[in-house]
Amino acid sequence: MIPRNKSFHAFTMDAAFSHEDEGTAHTSPSSVIKVMNIAKSVFPGIVTSFQLARSLDVILSKRGFKKETTLLATSFCPDEVCRDVEDELRNVFGQNFSFGGIAGFPFGGCTSFGALCHHVPTDGQCIIVYGPHVGIDFDGTIGKVNRRGHAGSGTCCNTGLASLAYVKSVKSGSKIHSPDPSDPIDAQQVFVDSAVMEHSTRLLGAGNPNIELPHVMLDCQEKLMERIMKKCMPMDTSKGMSIALLGGIQVNTPEGTPDYFLPKKFSLVNDEGKLEEDLLSLLVEEGNKDLTKVVRQKRTEEKPKGEEKCVDVPLIY
Ligand SMILES: [Zn+2]
Repeated sequence: MIPRNKSFHAFTMDAAFSHEDEGTAHTSPSSVIKVMNIAKSVFPGIVTSFQLARSLDVILSKRGFKKETTLLATSFCPDEVCRDVEDELRNVFGQNFSFGGIAGFPFGGCTSFGALCHHVPTDGQCIIVYGPHVGIDFDGTIGKVNRRGHAGSGTCCNTGLASLAYVKSVKSGSKIHSPDPSDPIDAQQVFVDSAVMEHSTRLLGAGNPNIELPHVMLDCQEKLMERIMKKCMPMDTSKGMSIALLGGIQVNTPEGTPDYFLPKKFSLVNDEGKLEEDLLSLLVEEGNKDLTKVVRQKRTEEKPKGEEKCVDVPLIY
């Protein structure tokens, strides 16, 4: 039970870090396989960060998105474990416009959204990728991750789990001092706590609230994205600009295991924000293709005519 005289910040830090550096600290081949299997069973449809970036390129290049005229924008948590997905996306689409605040909420708001729309190259398009994140540690615990230089794992996402603790605490009758929401030093955490609180019944009724939490946070973020886009479009978008809007959950894993992304919403909208095409099933399908077959197919397509009798070089990974 959290003492009533604790400050909001002390409560948040306790909730996020009171069980820091517990559990297994080192990787092993069996823990890598265990983490991968848990990730796939708990979040069905996940794709690796590499596959996500590759699949976006495959799908969007067929829809008029050219790399040289496409702006990548992301809204992810500031947590360092969230950079892997961005790195893979940047490898394909170049530097990103980042407008996310804690837990990945698009706290850059209308000003960021308007700015990124104006940064899109002439006659270009935009990809927006947003979402919360959740960790899986070496022991397979959902909601924890092994960070570099630590003798065990820690919570992930810190903000999300602090919000879950806030919901549990308030619902159990504890009073927590809430700071002035207009003061920027705690404003983002106050906002996330309030947003997650709206889903308290769903969260606390879940078999594992740590699994339900990122889904809840994504729903909260989508609500915010919809409000931002409704206010900014078409005022800030150029005529003919398409936006590929991808919302999902980052699944952070320990060293030696690929990071994943669970796509939950992927659509193409026009400069007025109207849906042009729902691409979610296409992304899940492309992202789960066997990479060996993808590379082999590409080689066949790229083979010059008249060289059909060339011998294929085996693929080595
Ligand atoms: Zn986070």
